[in-house]
Amino acid sequence: MSDACNAKENIGYEIDRIRPALCDLSHKIHANPELGFAEHKAVQWQTELLQDHGFSIETPYSGLETSYKATFIKGTGGPAIAFLAEYDALKGLGHACGHNLIAAMAVGGAIGLAKCTAPVNGKVVVIGCPAEETGHGKVILLNNGGFDGIDFAMMIHPGNRNLIGRSGLASTRLDIEFFGKAAHSKEPAEGINALTALLNTFTGIDTLRQVWRDDARINGIITAGGVASNVIPEYAAATFTVRSRTGQYLHKMIADIGRVADAAALVTGAKSKVTTGLVSTERYPNRVMGETFKANMALLNETMTYPPAGLQVGSSDFGNVSMVIPAIHEYLAIATTEVKNHTPEMAGAACSPRSDAVLVKGAQGLAMTGHDILASAELRKRIVDEFQQTMAADRQEVS
Ligand SMILES: [Zn+2]
Repeated sequence: MSDACNAKENIGYEIDRIRPALCDLSHKIHANPELGFAEHKAVQWQTELLQDHGFSIETPYSGLETSYKATFIKGTGGPAIAFLAEYDALKGLGHACGHNLIAAMAVGGAIGLAKCTAPVNGKVVVIGCPAEETGHGKVILLNNGGFDGIDFAMMIHPGNRNLIGRSGLASTRLDIEFFGKAAHSKEPAEGINALTALLNTFTGIDTLRQVWRDDARINGIITAGGVASNVIPEYAAATFTVRSRTGQYLHKMIADIGRVADAAALVTGAKSKVTTGLVSTERYPNRVMGETFKANMALLNETMTYPPAGLQVGSSDFGNVSMVIPAIHEYLAIATTEVKNHTPEMAGAACSPRSDAVLVKGAQGLAMTGHDILASAELRKRIVDEFQQTMAADRQEVS
């Protein structure tokens, strides 16, 4: 039997051994949903388990209260592999995105790789990434240097298909406000109607849709539109989610929307204020890493495929990580394709006998892939070569 084969059997065995603790971790996080930046219990439970298995823990980490870094040195140290944990829930829906499983797979994968007795040198790291849903936690961690020293990053998201190499859209949130002047509605000329300015902005954005690229996506809601129908609104506000295939095009859209808001202000006399949130970039999945993961999942009797043409893609702050470090964000099915993300049905699927089984296999697949990377300088070179070529080639034209 080869060394690689022995190592993988060893990883499988080690993760099977901690299956009760990993399922317990997943179930506890699921039963105690915490919103972004408030995931205190989730961080405590993950770091306790990692510490029990010899990891050194830093928390809070990199400027975020509910972030953490867990590190285990193998042999003499060397390339650092980070398993990324997410653990925030959705308001009103609990763990309808299954982040309890992302956390448990990252923790399990890291422990499995740390315990593997095959002689490789490297660093096994878990980075606890808060607030994926609402707060762009990874963007903040990246800006604060939280990914410095990491050579490769991996995570698995639960879903309704087994997928590798799925892309993601760039996205951000825009807040647009107008400040006018209140007046009695019988004397509208005395006022400046902030709501009219806001409605003109919605109309202007609809005009822009005609000239934007097909991948441009924008949806907005009015969050303030006046307080009484017999008063000219002095204040109006809206929040938009803006998406496109690339961060570069997203910036063009933001600039266009800024001009629409300026124009609405000019027409109505209201003052405009546009606030742009943090930008999640598009995603660059590393194919060599993805193929390595696919081969390992095949050993665990799971078939991984590339996304079918036309499959909708979402956005995640993982995109920003993939532009800095070779990285993968793969998907394992915990439900049938009728079950959609961010629904009560997906929340149910995220804590089930099937999701327990998937979490064990996911952790094993992550650990095996981590082992392959640490064990082969040739594989590391192929991964890094692809990353560098992708980053050099994929600077998109704006128009
Ligand atoms: Zn998610």
